[in-house]
Amino acid sequence: MTGMMQGIRYPFGKNTPDDGLVASVMQGIRWLRMPLPFVLNHVNLWLIEDGHGWSCIDTGVTWDKGKAIWKEVLKTHPLNRQIVTHCHPDHVGLSGWLQQQTGAPLWMTQGEYLSAQAHINQIGNCSIPAMLSLFKRHGLDDTRLAALQKRGNAMKAGCPVLPETYHQMREGDRINIGGFSWEVIIGFGHAYEHAAFYCNGLNILISGDMLLPSISTNVPVAACCPDGNPLKDFLDSLQKFRKLPDNTLVLPSHGRPFIGIHERVDFLERHHQDRCDLVLSLCRQPQTACGIMPRLFERDITDAHQCQFAMGEAIAHLNYLEQQSLVKPMEKNGILYYQRTQP
Ligand SMILES: [Zn+2]
Repeated sequence: MTGMMQGIRYPFGKNTPDDGLVASVMQGIRWLRMPLPFVLNHVNLWLIEDGHGWSCIDTGVTWDKGKAIWKEVLKTHPLNRQIVTHCHPDHVGLSGWLQQQTGAPLWMTQGEYLSAQAHINQIGNCSIPAMLSLFKRHGLDDTRLAALQKRGNAMKAGCPVLPETYHQMREGDRINIGGFSWEVIIGFGHAYEHAAFYCNGLNILISGDMLLPSISTNVPVAACCPDGNPLKDFLDSLQKFRKLPDNTLVLPSHGRPFIGIHERVDFLERHHQDRCDLVLSLCRQPQTACGIMPRLFERDITDAHQCQFAMGEAIAHLNYLEQQSLVKPMEKNGILYYQRTQP
């Protein structure tokens, strides 16, 4: 049969650099696998040779091990610029510290820089209390609310300092790194204004968290935008990657470099369609976001860190269906229950 799906390919096989070590992707591009103290135990950072020094893509979260690894890496890779895909602490976390160590300026989009500031400083509904009241409204129980409260401001823990200024990146900007032009591709749904980078000359996409080979990107509703539709935003944003050549080498923030953008986008579209079909079938009976969470993720979510991602994404699926008029919310004792509009 022609047109059969090829599946995605991993050009480096099962090889991944050991934690904290740098491997070569190709001349002038290096892969630093940075460990993380979470269930998601690593983030990939990319170092690109840039004149007399190196530009890094993302920084890792703030903890002693991350700093110790960077101190070693900086001996052979003097940093002259930090380019950060988005505001999550595993990506932006060490940028303030790295700037203190090296002077390297931060490049970021406006949406990501300002939201990082807002979450670190707990401004408006970019705060833990606002998140807790959103989750409570969506049915989360007191035990898990208490665990999230106890965990506190994970953004500030992972990113205690942010550089005081940044250089703004915008959609379509072309950034010159070491003689190659990298185009900024903005994506929505995972974070506020996520930047990915495509180099036509090298046929490489640095995808950040927008396109991952083995896990599906988290698409959370945020407390500052409770009626947002991040699942639609994410699916719409994926179409930008579909326009790139299928043989593009993708360097993702988590997992291994891969080839097969189109297959991966197809898979993610099917995955979310399946999840939506499941939610719709559950919503024959009134359901809260908390109630659908174990079915949506096929397990009980107990860890506070995972619970934050999972609740945000459960609400996102309900908002997505509600905005297509497929489910309708009803409020009972301050809690939102969703039921399908057609039997
Ligand atoms: Zn992220």
